[in-house]
Amino acid sequence: MSGEFSLIDRYFTHRTRHTLLGVGDDAALIRPRRGHVLAISADMLVEGRHFFRGSDPEALGHKTLAVNLSDLAAMGATPRWATLALALPKADARWLAAFTRGFMRLARAHDVDLIGGDTTRGPLNLCVQIMGEVSAHQALRRDGARVGDDIWVSGTLGDAALAVAARNKKIRITKQQLAAVSQRLDQPAPRVALGMALRGIARSAIDISDGLLADLGHICERSQVSAAIELAALPRSALMRALAGQPVAQSALLAGGDDYELCFTAPASRRATVLRAGTRARVRVTRIGRIIRAPAGAIGVAVVDGDGLPVRVAQRGFDHFG
Ligand code: ADP
Ligand code: MG
Repeated sequence: MSGEFSLIDRYFTHRTRHTLLGVGDDAALIRPRRGHVLAISADMLVEGRHFFRGSDPEALGHKTLAVNLSDLAAMGATPRWATLALALPKADARWLAAFTRGFMRLARAHDVDLIGGDTTRGPLNLCVQIMGEVSAHQALRRDGARVGDDIWVSGTLGDAALAVAARNKKIRITKQQLAAVSQRLDQPAPRVALGMALRGIARSAIDISDGLLADLGHICERSQVSAAIELAALPRSALMRALAGQPVAQSALLAGGDDYELCFTAPASRRATVLRAGTRARVRVTRIGRIIRAPAGAIGVAVVDGDGLPVRVAQRGFDHFG
Protein backbone atom coordinates (compact mmCIF):
# COMPACT_ATOMS: atom_id res chain seq x y z
CA MET A 1 0.00 0.00 0.00
CA SER A 2 1.50 3.35 -0.96
CA GLY A 3 2.17 5.58 1.98
CA GLU A 4 2.09 2.57 4.28
CA PHE A 5 4.76 3.99 6.55
CA SER A 6 3.19 7.42 6.90
CA LEU A 7 -0.11 5.65 7.69
CA ILE A 8 1.60 3.71 10.44
CA ASP A 9 3.26 6.85 11.84
CA ARG A 10 0.11 8.83 11.67
CA TYR A 11 -2.51 6.41 12.98
CA PHE A 12 -0.83 3.52 14.72
CA THR A 13 2.10 4.97 16.63
CA HIS A 14 1.09 5.87 20.18
CA ARG A 15 2.79 6.22 23.52
CA THR A 16 3.18 2.97 25.42
CA ARG A 17 3.33 2.29 29.15
CA HIS A 18 4.26 -1.36 29.58
CA THR A 19 6.46 -1.99 26.56
CA LEU A 20 10.22 -2.25 26.04
CA LEU A 21 9.96 -1.69 22.26
CA GLY A 22 6.76 -0.92 20.37
CA VAL A 23 5.73 0.04 16.81
CA GLY A 24 8.62 0.66 14.42
CA ASP A 25 10.83 -2.40 14.58
CA ASP A 26 10.47 -5.90 13.19
CA ALA A 27 8.90 -7.11 16.41
CA ALA A 28 7.84 -5.62 19.71
CA LEU A 29 9.51 -6.52 22.98
CA ILE A 30 7.46 -7.02 26.14
CA ARG A 31 8.11 -8.45 29.58
CA PRO A 32 5.32 -9.73 31.82
CA ARG A 33 5.60 -8.93 35.50
CA ARG A 34 7.42 -11.44 37.69
CA GLY A 35 5.20 -14.35 38.72
CA HIS A 36 2.74 -13.76 35.87
CA VAL A 37 2.07 -15.63 32.64
CA LEU A 38 0.92 -14.18 29.34
CA ALA A 39 -2.73 -14.66 28.33
CA ILE A 40 -2.98 -14.35 24.53
CA SER A 41 -5.97 -14.35 22.24
CA ALA A 42 -6.87 -13.18 18.73
CA ASP A 43 -10.19 -12.24 17.16
CA MET A 44 -10.88 -11.17 13.61
CA LEU A 45 -13.78 -9.08 12.32
CA VAL A 46 -14.66 -9.50 8.65
CA GLU A 47 -16.89 -7.09 6.74
CA GLY A 48 -20.17 -8.68 5.72
CA ARG A 49 -19.76 -11.42 8.28
CA HIS A 50 -19.20 -9.72 11.64
CA PHE A 51 -20.35 -6.23 10.72
CA PHE A 52 -22.39 -4.57 7.99
CA ARG A 53 -20.75 -2.83 5.05
CA GLY A 54 -20.57 0.88 5.73
CA SER A 55 -20.52 0.46 9.54
CA ASP A 56 -19.50 3.51 11.53
CA PRO A 57 -15.67 3.31 11.71
CA GLU A 58 -15.38 4.74 15.22
CA ALA A 59 -17.76 2.12 16.63
CA LEU A 60 -15.89 -0.52 14.63
CA GLY A 61 -12.58 0.55 16.18
CA HIS A 62 -14.17 0.17 19.59
CA LYS A 63 -15.71 -3.21 18.83
CA THR A 64 -12.56 -4.65 17.25
CA LEU A 65 -10.71 -4.15 20.52
CA ALA A 66 -13.72 -4.83 22.77
CA VAL A 67 -14.28 -8.39 21.54
CA ASN A 68 -10.62 -9.13 22.25
CA LEU A 69 -10.69 -7.51 25.70
CA SER A 70 -13.71 -9.68 26.45
CA ASP A 71 -11.63 -12.82 25.92
CA LEU A 72 -9.04 -11.61 28.41
CA ALA A 73 -11.82 -10.66 30.84
CA ALA A 74 -13.04 -14.25 30.65
CA MET A 75 -9.55 -15.42 31.65
CA GLY A 76 -9.33 -13.00 34.57
CA ALA A 77 -6.26 -11.44 32.93
CA THR A 78 -5.09 -7.83 33.11
CA PRO A 79 -4.93 -6.54 29.51
CA ARG A 80 -1.59 -4.96 28.57
CA TRP A 81 -0.69 -5.19 24.88
CA ALA A 82 -2.41 -5.48 21.50
CA THR A 83 -1.36 -5.82 17.88
CA LEU A 84 -3.61 -4.73 15.03
CA ALA A 85 -3.51 -6.31 11.57
CA LEU A 86 -5.65 -4.51 9.01
CA ALA A 87 -6.61 -5.15 5.42
CA LEU A 88 -8.09 -1.97 3.94
CA PRO A 89 -9.67 -1.52 0.49
CA LYS A 90 -8.13 1.97 0.33
CA ALA A 91 -6.26 4.44 2.52
CA ASP A 92 -9.23 6.59 3.51
CA ALA A 93 -7.96 9.21 5.97
CA ARG A 94 -11.37 9.98 7.49
CA TRP A 95 -12.14 6.31 7.98
CA LEU A 96 -8.73 5.62 9.53
CA ALA A 97 -8.89 8.60 11.86
CA ALA A 98 -12.32 7.56 13.15
CA PHE A 99 -11.40 3.90 13.45
CA THR A 100 -8.25 4.74 15.39
CA ARG A 101 -10.17 7.12 17.65
CA GLY A 102 -12.60 4.36 18.66
CA PHE A 103 -9.83 1.80 19.05
CA MET A 104 -7.43 3.99 21.02
CA ARG A 105 -10.10 5.43 23.32
CA LEU A 106 -10.93 1.93 24.54
CA ALA A 107 -7.24 0.97 24.61
CA ARG A 108 -6.43 3.93 26.87
CA ALA A 109 -9.43 3.24 29.08
CA HIS A 110 -8.00 -0.23 29.73
CA ASP A 111 -4.35 0.86 29.78
CA VAL A 112 -3.51 -1.30 26.74
CA ASP A 113 -0.43 -0.52 24.59
CA LEU A 114 -0.73 -0.87 20.80
CA ILE A 115 2.65 -2.47 20.09
CA GLY A 116 2.56 -3.50 16.43
CA GLY A 117 0.60 -4.95 13.59
CA ASP A 118 0.37 -5.09 9.85
CA THR A 119 -1.33 -2.89 7.26
CA THR A 120 -2.15 -4.14 3.80
CA ARG A 121 -4.59 -3.54 0.95
CA GLY A 122 -7.50 -5.96 0.68
CA PRO A 123 -11.16 -6.52 1.56
CA LEU A 124 -11.86 -4.86 4.93
CA ASN A 125 -10.65 -7.17 7.66
CA LEU A 126 -9.69 -6.25 11.22
CA CYS A 127 -7.61 -8.59 13.32
CA VAL A 128 -6.38 -7.95 16.84
CA GLN A 129 -4.12 -10.05 18.98
CA ILE A 130 -4.47 -9.16 22.63
CA MET A 131 -2.08 -10.03 25.41
CA GLY A 132 -2.46 -9.72 29.14
CA GLU A 133 -1.01 -10.92 32.40
CA VAL A 134 -2.37 -13.21 35.07
CA SER A 135 -0.75 -15.31 37.75
CA ALA A 136 -0.96 -18.88 36.44
CA HIS A 137 -2.98 -20.37 39.29
CA GLN A 138 -5.56 -17.56 39.15
CA ALA A 139 -6.45 -17.73 35.44
CA LEU A 140 -10.18 -18.37 34.97
CA ARG A 141 -10.41 -21.36 32.68
CA ARG A 142 -13.29 -23.20 31.08
CA ASP A 143 -12.33 -26.50 32.66
CA GLY A 144 -12.68 -25.59 36.35
CA ALA A 145 -16.44 -25.97 36.95
CA ARG A 146 -17.41 -28.49 39.68
CA VAL A 147 -20.72 -30.18 40.49
CA GLY A 148 -22.59 -27.96 42.97
CA ASP A 149 -21.11 -24.67 41.69
CA ASP A 150 -23.48 -21.77 41.23
CA ILE A 151 -23.71 -20.41 37.67
CA TRP A 152 -23.63 -16.63 37.31
CA VAL A 153 -23.83 -14.11 34.48
CA SER A 154 -23.02 -10.41 34.34
CA GLY A 155 -25.23 -7.63 32.96
CA THR A 156 -28.29 -8.57 30.90
CA LEU A 157 -28.57 -11.12 28.10
CA GLY A 158 -29.79 -11.00 24.51
CA ASP A 159 -29.85 -7.26 23.92
CA ALA A 160 -27.37 -7.30 21.02
CA ALA A 161 -29.46 -10.01 19.33
CA LEU A 162 -32.55 -7.83 19.76
CA ALA A 163 -30.74 -5.05 17.89
CA VAL A 164 -30.04 -7.45 15.03
CA ALA A 165 -33.67 -8.66 15.08
CA ALA A 166 -34.90 -5.06 14.94
CA ARG A 167 -32.58 -4.18 12.05
CA ASN A 168 -33.83 -7.25 10.20
CA LYS A 169 -37.45 -6.19 10.91
CA LYS A 170 -38.19 -9.29 12.99
CA ILE A 171 -39.43 -7.11 15.85
CA ARG A 172 -40.84 -3.59 15.98
CA ILE A 173 -39.42 -1.36 18.69
CA THR A 174 -39.23 2.38 19.34
CA LYS A 175 -36.31 4.59 18.32
CA GLN A 176 -35.12 4.91 21.93
CA GLN A 177 -35.30 1.15 22.44
CA LEU A 178 -33.34 0.63 19.23
CA ALA A 179 -30.69 3.12 20.36
CA ALA A 180 -30.25 1.30 23.66
CA VAL A 181 -29.79 -2.16 22.13
CA SER A 182 -27.70 -0.83 19.23
CA GLN A 183 -25.26 0.48 21.80
CA ARG A 184 -24.94 -3.08 23.14
CA LEU A 185 -24.36 -4.46 19.64
CA ASP A 186 -22.04 -1.79 18.25
CA GLN A 187 -20.09 -0.72 21.32
CA PRO A 188 -20.04 -3.58 23.82
CA ALA A 189 -18.46 -2.95 27.23
CA PRO A 190 -16.02 -5.80 27.90
CA ARG A 191 -16.24 -6.97 31.53
CA VAL A 192 -12.54 -6.63 32.21
CA ALA A 193 -12.88 -5.29 35.77
CA LEU A 194 -15.23 -8.11 36.69
CA GLY A 195 -12.92 -10.79 35.29
CA MET A 196 -10.06 -9.38 37.35
CA ALA A 197 -12.25 -9.11 40.47
CA LEU A 198 -13.24 -12.79 40.11
CA ARG A 199 -9.66 -14.08 40.26
CA GLY A 200 -9.39 -16.54 43.12
CA ILE A 201 -13.21 -16.61 43.45
CA ALA A 202 -14.70 -18.04 40.25
CA ARG A 203 -13.80 -21.62 39.34
CA SER A 204 -14.51 -21.28 35.61
CA ALA A 205 -15.50 -18.53 33.19
CA ILE A 206 -16.28 -17.78 29.56
CA ASP A 207 -17.43 -14.68 27.72
CA ILE A 208 -20.79 -14.91 25.97
CA SER A 209 -20.17 -14.26 22.29
CA ASP A 210 -22.26 -17.07 20.77
CA GLY A 211 -25.20 -17.09 23.17
CA LEU A 212 -25.60 -18.35 26.75
CA LEU A 213 -26.54 -21.95 25.91
CA ALA A 214 -23.66 -22.46 23.50
CA ASP A 215 -21.04 -20.76 25.65
CA LEU A 216 -22.10 -22.31 28.97
CA GLY A 217 -22.08 -25.55 26.98
CA HIS A 218 -18.35 -25.00 26.35
CA ILE A 219 -17.72 -24.75 30.11
CA CYS A 220 -19.68 -27.98 30.57
CA GLU A 221 -17.75 -29.85 27.90
CA ARG A 222 -14.36 -28.69 29.11
CA SER A 223 -15.29 -29.43 32.74
CA GLN A 224 -17.16 -32.72 32.04
CA VAL A 225 -20.29 -31.57 33.86
CA SER A 226 -23.81 -30.42 32.98
CA ALA A 227 -25.70 -27.27 33.87
CA ALA A 228 -29.28 -26.50 34.86
CA ILE A 229 -30.35 -22.90 34.43
CA GLU A 230 -33.64 -21.36 35.50
CA LEU A 231 -35.31 -19.43 32.70
CA ALA A 232 -37.00 -16.93 35.03
CA ALA A 233 -33.68 -16.10 36.71
CA LEU A 234 -31.95 -14.84 33.56
CA PRO A 235 -31.22 -11.10 33.80
CA ARG A 236 -33.30 -9.14 31.29
CA SER A 237 -33.18 -5.52 30.15
CA ALA A 238 -36.36 -3.42 30.21
CA LEU A 239 -36.82 -4.09 26.49
CA MET A 240 -36.36 -7.83 26.94
CA ARG A 241 -39.01 -7.78 29.68
CA ALA A 242 -41.34 -5.79 27.44
CA LEU A 243 -40.97 -8.45 24.70
CA ALA A 244 -41.55 -11.38 27.10
CA GLY A 245 -43.37 -14.26 25.44
CA GLN A 246 -42.21 -13.45 21.92
CA PRO A 247 -40.16 -16.34 20.50
CA VAL A 248 -37.56 -13.90 19.11
CA ALA A 249 -36.99 -12.58 22.63
CA GLN A 250 -36.55 -16.04 24.13
CA SER A 251 -34.01 -17.11 21.53
CA ALA A 252 -32.15 -13.80 21.91
CA LEU A 253 -31.99 -14.38 25.68
CA LEU A 254 -30.77 -17.97 25.46
CA ALA A 255 -28.95 -18.16 22.16
CA GLY A 256 -28.26 -14.59 21.01
CA GLY A 257 -24.63 -13.73 20.41
CA ASP A 258 -22.51 -10.61 20.75
CA ASP A 259 -23.43 -9.64 24.32
CA TYR A 260 -19.90 -10.03 25.70
CA GLU A 261 -21.15 -10.64 29.21
CA LEU A 262 -19.30 -13.12 31.41
CA CYS A 263 -20.74 -16.47 32.45
CA PHE A 264 -18.88 -18.03 35.37
CA THR A 265 -19.20 -20.60 38.11
CA ALA A 266 -18.27 -20.36 41.77
CA PRO A 267 -18.76 -22.47 44.89
CA ALA A 268 -22.10 -21.83 46.63
CA SER A 269 -20.12 -20.86 49.76
CA ARG A 270 -18.81 -17.77 47.92
CA ARG A 271 -22.10 -16.08 47.02
CA ALA A 272 -21.48 -12.98 49.11
CA THR A 273 -17.92 -12.69 47.76
CA VAL A 274 -19.16 -12.91 44.16
CA LEU A 275 -21.73 -10.19 44.82
CA ARG A 276 -19.00 -7.99 46.31
CA ALA A 277 -16.82 -8.59 43.24
CA GLY A 278 -19.72 -7.39 41.06
CA THR A 279 -20.12 -4.28 43.20
CA ARG A 280 -16.40 -3.57 43.00
CA ALA A 281 -16.47 -3.97 39.21
CA ARG A 282 -19.69 -1.90 38.99
CA VAL A 283 -21.60 -4.56 37.10
CA ARG A 284 -24.64 -6.51 38.17
CA VAL A 285 -24.09 -10.24 38.62
CA THR A 286 -27.00 -12.69 38.72
CA ARG A 287 -27.14 -16.30 39.87
CA ILE A 288 -28.91 -18.30 37.16
CA GLY A 289 -28.45 -21.98 38.04
CA ARG A 290 -26.20 -24.81 39.14
CA ILE A 291 -23.61 -27.15 37.81
CA ILE A 292 -24.91 -30.73 38.03
CA ARG A 293 -23.47 -34.17 37.40
CA ALA A 294 -23.46 -35.03 33.71
CA PRO A 295 -25.67 -38.02 32.91
CA ALA A 296 -23.56 -40.57 31.00
CA GLY A 297 -22.90 -39.39 27.45
CA ALA A 298 -25.10 -36.33 27.83
CA ILE A 299 -23.09 -33.31 28.83
CA GLY A 300 -25.03 -30.10 28.28
CA VAL A 301 -27.25 -27.31 29.48
CA ALA A 302 -30.84 -27.86 30.66
CA VAL A 303 -33.28 -24.96 30.92
CA VAL A 304 -35.77 -25.44 33.76
CA ASP A 305 -38.75 -23.55 35.24
CA GLY A 306 -39.18 -22.54 38.88
CA ASP A 307 -40.20 -26.12 39.81
CA GLY A 308 -37.14 -27.62 38.16
CA LEU A 309 -39.13 -28.97 35.20
CA PRO A 310 -37.58 -28.77 31.72
CA VAL A 311 -38.65 -25.86 29.54
CA ARG A 312 -39.07 -26.41 25.82
CA VAL A 313 -36.65 -24.15 24.01
CA ALA A 314 -36.96 -23.47 20.29
CA GLN A 315 -33.41 -22.50 19.48
CA ARG A 316 -30.83 -24.24 21.62
CA GLY A 317 -27.68 -23.99 19.59
CA PHE A 318 -25.60 -27.13 19.76
CA ASP A 319 -27.15 -28.63 22.88
CA HIS A 320 -27.81 -32.39 23.25
CA PHE A 321 -29.11 -32.48 26.79
CA GLY A 322 -32.57 -33.17 28.23
P1 ADP B 1 7.41 -5.62 8.45
O1 ADP B 1 7.76 -5.33 7.04
O2 ADP B 1 8.58 -6.00 9.32
O3 ADP B 1 6.22 -6.51 8.59
P2 ADP B 1 5.78 -3.32 8.58
O4 ADP B 1 6.26 -2.36 7.57
O5 ADP B 1 4.60 -4.16 8.27
O6 ADP B 1 6.98 -4.21 9.08
O7 ADP B 1 5.46 -2.51 9.91
C1 ADP B 1 6.33 -1.55 10.41
C2 ADP B 1 6.05 -1.35 11.87
O8 ADP B 1 4.74 -0.85 12.03
C3 ADP B 1 6.10 -2.66 12.67
O9 ADP B 1 6.63 -2.36 13.95
C4 ADP B 1 4.66 -3.08 12.76
O10 ADP B 1 4.43 -3.84 13.94
C5 ADP B 1 3.95 -1.73 12.82
N1 ADP B 1 2.59 -1.74 12.25
C6 ADP B 1 2.23 -1.97 10.97
N2 ADP B 1 0.90 -1.89 10.83
C7 ADP B 1 0.39 -1.61 12.03
C8 ADP B 1 -0.92 -1.40 12.56
N3 ADP B 1 -2.03 -1.47 11.78
N4 ADP B 1 -1.06 -1.13 13.88
C9 ADP B 1 0.03 -1.08 14.67
N5 ADP B 1 1.28 -1.24 14.25
C10 ADP B 1 1.47 -1.50 12.95
MG1 MG C 1 4.25 -6.10 7.93
